Amino acid sequence: MDDLLIRGGHLIDGTGAPGRDADVSVQAGRVVAVERRSTRPAHREIDARGQVVAPGLIDIHTHSDFTLPLNPRAESKIRQGVTLEVAGNCGFSAAPALPGRAGVLREYLASSAPWLEFAETSFADYVAGFPRTAVNVILQVGHHTLRIMTAGMEARPVTAAELAAMERLLAEALAAGAWGLSSGLFTAPGCYADAAEIHALARVLRRHGAAYASHIRDEANSVDVAVAEAIAVAEATGVHVQIAHLKLSGVDNWGGAARLLDTLAAARRRGLPVDCDAYPYDTATNPLRNLLPRFVMEGGIPAMLERLGRREVRERLRAEIAREGLTNFGRIPSWDVVRVAVSPHLPQEAGRTFGELAKHRRVDPLDAVCDFIVADRGETRILITSMSDADVRRISTAPWVTVGSDGNALATSGVTSQGKPHPRYYGTHARMLGSYVRDLGLLTLEAAIHKMTGASAAALGLADRGVLREGAWADVTVLDPARVGERGTYDDPHRYAVGVSTVVVNGTVVIDGGDHTGALPGRVLRRAAAA
Ligand SMILES: [Zn+2]
Repeated sequence: MDDLLIRGGHLIDGTGAPGRDADVSVQAGRVVAVERRSTRPAHREIDARGQVVAPGLIDIHTHSDFTLPLNPRAESKIRQGVTLEVAGNCGFSAAPALPGRAGVLREYLASSAPWLEFAETSFADYVAGFPRTAVNVILQVGHHTLRIMTAGMEARPVTAAELAAMERLLAEALAAGAWGLSSGLFTAPGCYADAAEIHALARVLRRHGAAYASHIRDEANSVDVAVAEAIAVAEATGVHVQIAHLKLSGVDNWGGAARLLDTLAAARRRGLPVDCDAYPYDTATNPLRNLLPRFVMEGGIPAMLERLGRREVRERLRAEIAREGLTNFGRIPSWDVVRVAVSPHLPQEAGRTFGELAKHRRVDPLDAVCDFIVADRGETRILITSMSDADVRRISTAPWVTVGSDGNALATSGVTSQGKPHPRYYGTHARMLGSYVRDLGLLTLEAAIHKMTGASAAALGLADRGVLREGAWADVTVLDPARVGERGTYDDPHRYAVGVSTVVVNGTVVIDGGDHTGALPGRVLRRAAAA
């Protein structure tokens, strides 16, 4: 007898093909039958009449490695139907943390993982000790982390010995199950790496059959150069390249979405293994300090805090920002578009913009920013509205662009419910299905689901997830297309998406009648050993 029969639903299988009515049978974690009308007996039947049955959604770009240990139920994600999170992105990972270096890593990652405990660990021990979670997880090792372990926060190329150490740490992580390497070339210390360093590490990936994901060197004034740099990694090494959260930041760069997509489509037509992802919002989130010229972070966080107190440093910042705009974000109309999301030491300021804070304190906005960073010890996270909605829609609806929230699994109670984080942590996938498909009619339901399932699985090289067919892992989402949608807003982000009634992970029901069962059937997916 089967474990589950999902009966009477409209199946959208993740391939992009038109939906059809079909029943789905599940046994021992796998889909064992997909039939027009099933007569197979099952211990439990789920009535999916009037609803869409889809593969579990894949969130291909997340930082949930920072919150799943605190929120293993993965509430904000699983309630949207997400069954797989790809974590360890943008160069950030909590492992490896070599003896004596866990404190520096904690300090460095505090603006992204303020509540996570850090310990000395190899990547293998980190994977082995990763908690049981509701969702499946893919872990990547971060380039920033490898560099902090070898060259610290120094603004220089690595030595041959340091590069060899990074290559060894990377190989160890890959052997322990890391899916690949992520980089964040937009900020320190990853930004100090040249192409040769990245290509050397990519050759290690190549030997292990592993992949490369990059938050590219610039998403604003030099975005074209940065995209070309990422494509060149695929061209030079043959490694799969995932460009994270493709966007054009800064008012001077708006309107370039079609050009960027053309560049990537051309690379794909040449046969290069290049994919990208995007989230459907015009607002980004980042550590506040990353908006400033890169020199402020040289030498690490204590050096930065000391530097930001100095008048001549602030004058230099003011001049550079006036000339170039913000690092990675370009020119913004005013500091009114930058607001505090999470501030561990000044929690009462969450939601206020730097325009307001400056007025209130009767100081220049840049001084308000520097004062805030110092008072919050560099840990402040902000929201910045720096994209054009037309570009966002164009990129997010392209049929081959996958969907990544760039967000963490949060919950509306407990430690992860603090501050005013980006609503995309709760709503990215639901927004695609509700706002983009149903309300705005920007793409079909089949196309949207394909972008979040089959296309993502293909980009990851996952053979048996992302498509609902016989033999695949039973990751399944049942949703009401008339009701699915996000509920969070920038002012009130901690609200779960609605419209998803059932979510199955590896054959186990996690969301049942819209409620979380508490089940934690997810596992860390390990890259298959290289051929
Ligand atoms: Zn990123």
